[in-house]
Amino acid sequence: MYRIGFGYDVHRLDEGRALILGGIEIPHHKGLLGHSDADLLTHAIIDAILGALAKGDIGRHFPDTDPAYKDAESLSLLKRVMEWVREEGFRINNVDATIVAERPKLAPHILPMREMLAGVLQIGLDQMSIKATTSEGLGFCGREEGMGAYAVVSLTGLEQ
Ligand code: MG
Repeated sequence: MYRIGFGYDVHRLDEGRALILGGIEIPHHKGLLGHSDADLLTHAIIDAILGALAKGDIGRHFPDTDPAYKDAESLSLLKRVMEWVREEGFRINNVDATIVAERPKLAPHILPMREMLAGVLQIGLDQMSIKATTSEGLGFCGREEGMGAYAVVSLTGLEQ
């Protein structure tokens, strides 16, 4: 009754968009472009959970062609996915995520993101890890054309 899931997401950066990561708005001159709020950290975690449940991916459940998800708050999608976790008889054991972003410095925002996500996932702060790295100026992240996020989640059966 243990499961592991992995998620990965990328969004393009653009002027005139809010930068939302883990449900927290981070001051920056660019934000992530997407049909929803483009919160790629939350998207990676959603995909990791769906992966652990073998339930496909975020695009299958919340298609970007559906106007219902236009500007959707990704945290509300995560809440929906958490209902499925419980229905399937699991709880979140822990999450480990890495954000890849050249700028801004994310260190001051890590704790608020962990608190926000741990609340939705109903886990303790010691079970909710978020790390951040740059890509040393290389590739699309390094050129600040976009950001990426990776997440791993483990689930435990409720009976255990
Ligand atoms: Mg996404």
